[in-house]
Amino acid sequence: MKYVDVIIPLKFRDSVTYSVPESIEESIVPGSIVKVTVVGRSYTAVVLRVKDVPGFDPSKIIPLREVVNFPPVTQANMDFLRQVASYYMCSLGEAFRFAAPSTVKALKRDRAKGADIEEAAGNGSGGQEPAGTALPVLSGEQAKAADSIRNLFSSGKNVLLHGVTGSGKTEIYITLADEYLKRNMNVLYLVPEIALSRQIQKRLAAHFGDSLIVYHSGQTAAHKRDVYEKTACSGKPHIILGLRSALFLPFSRLGLIVVDEEHDNSYKQTDQAPRYHGRDTALMLGRIHKCPVLLGSATPSFESIYNVRNGKLGLVLLSSRYYGGEDCTVTVVDMVRERRKRAVKGPFSLVLVNAIAQRLERHEQVLVFRSRRAYATALECPECGHIPKCPRCNIPMSYHKFNNSLSCHYCGYSEKAVSACPVCGKGTMRALGDGTEKIEEELQGLFPGARIERFDSDTVRDRKEEARILRQFADGDIDILVGTQMISKGFDFSRLTLTAVLKAEAVTQVFDFRADERALQLLRQLMGRAGRRNVPGEMIVQTSQAGHPVFDMLLHPGLTDSNRMLEERYEFGYPPFSRIIRLSVKSQDKDKAQQRANEIKNIVRMAGFSDITGPAAPPVERSAGEFRQHLLIKTDRSRSWAREKSMLYCSLRSIPASELTIDVDPVY
Ligand SMILES: [Zn+2]
Ligand SMILES: [Zn+2]
Repeated sequence: MKYVDVIIPLKFRDSVTYSVPESIEESIVPGSIVKVTVVGRSYTAVVLRVKDVPGFDPSKIIPLREVVNFPPVTQANMDFLRQVASYYMCSLGEAFRFAAPSTVKALKRDRAKGADIEEAAGNGSGGQEPAGTALPVLSGEQAKAADSIRNLFSSGKNVLLHGVTGSGKTEIYITLADEYLKRNMNVLYLVPEIALSRQIQKRLAAHFGDSLIVYHSGQTAAHKRDVYEKTACSGKPHIILGLRSALFLPFSRLGLIVVDEEHDNSYKQTDQAPRYHGRDTALMLGRIHKCPVLLGSATPSFESIYNVRNGKLGLVLLSSRYYGGEDCTVTVVDMVRERRKRAVKGPFSLVLVNAIAQRLERHEQVLVFRSRRAYATALECPECGHIPKCPRCNIPMSYHKFNNSLSCHYCGYSEKAVSACPVCGKGTMRALGDGTEKIEEELQGLFPGARIERFDSDTVRDRKEEARILRQFADGDIDILVGTQMISKGFDFSRLTLTAVLKAEAVTQVFDFRADERALQLLRQLMGRAGRRNVPGEMIVQTSQAGHPVFDMLLHPGLTDSNRMLEERYEFGYPPFSRIIRLSVKSQDKDKAQQRANEIKNIVRMAGFSDITGPAAPPVERSAGEFRQHLLIKTDRSRSWAREKSMLYCSLRSIPASELTIDVDPVY
């Protein structure tokens, strides 16, 4: 009689033992996909190990039901699931349940979802692009960068490719990917979002033809199964373009992983376990397959900058624009000074008004960016731009009108709001972001002849509407587009030559220690939007906090300029200098959430963690009818993190997922 330990896609921490009916004994190996019964319900599970001795009373063991006709999960894939589960503090079953869409869920009856995007761009049959179109011709700088990357790879290092927007990182990815395909190895190319994947897909399809496979969660089960089999088998090599979930495909002969836009927070999974980060998990996958990882960005994450400094990542720079377009000039307009000079019209500085008028005259286009309304509001001094921050946590505090107080979302610290500015003494503190809704109206008043549209989540309700506005803007039927974060990435407009950012200090108003890093990334991305095709671009940034380090860094780009912001992280003990685990405690009752959070805080303390912040309510305290309280656990990077976490996981595992979620390296 044979027995198997299987992983069931449930929160169970351990595997479960079943006996194997003799008739299928031959076909069971570690990694086999099987059907088992748990309390009367059928589950698709994966065999962890096969054994001859049950380990306990065999009369209590029931047989598994059947083996599924599907390629077994590979050892490397199993190792990967195990590492992801252990790092992100979830059970192997939860990791398997998540990975399952790429494997066993594909077995379920295929519900055709209509034409998928990959059909449009030469994926497999019906592709319009012939395979093997000429490779891109690299510029001198690009060729040099590609060489540096090859050298670093052969010395065993992963690489951060830091290239300004438009410097042609994609050509380098394509060149390198082609080399691995020619060596008969597979390449994984990750992008953070679907919008970006659509654009890159066309470029990759032109070079790689039917060697290109596109993979994301919105595809049909039949397509997924096909991808699964292609990546697992030893046939023709492929380049797989996917979102983060593609990391869970059962790769064989993985030669290279590219993580494009590595700084992008969309790489982090937040809604279900495993709450993994695509970039960090790609590095994990690379180690398992002993294959190099190439991270690329115009605005690298602080994590990657830190890893370059401590020697874990090699750095390659690309500083000139590939398309020969001129660099975007940036002007930071100090609104405090302009207002004093009376050089303003409503929310606009005269500098900006003149710049817009000039663009309209030349039939060029303008993008006016306003920050998305935040869930909570910070206070700001209109005179000097001061925003009150928590003295302990260094994050902006949010303002509560009902009791006129300011509070911190990390530690719960609270103080009375004062109306006079504590820094300059001249200003009267007011809610940040007030009055940003009327921009469109004010613009129409100033430029009555201009065609103005708004592009944000209030006006753009669906894909169709989104596509319509973007097409109109691309066709030149809109002169001024007013938009939020939605507009900041992935689109190219040839007549767009001016980008304006209003109340730029509001982009730093995120209730998170990464506020400044994210603000800088956003502003640099907006900068990349203007003037790409041989037309010089200009960005005008209006702010009442002109002295803020973010604007200083915007004007003086370069990796070393992150020093000041990194120093601040160090001073307050934030990542990348420490590690954070966030516990989110939920309850339908407000008091109970708080009480439970305090109990859990004690459990965490007992498990040996001493640096615990909170409990405190997050910016969105109540969601889906539940109240939430957050605890932040910080640990030193030098400590034995894996062991500590596993101890903590043990002490928290009895708490149901409906009451507690654990997020390792949270991004919000
Ligand atoms: Zn002030
Ligand atoms: Zn605080």
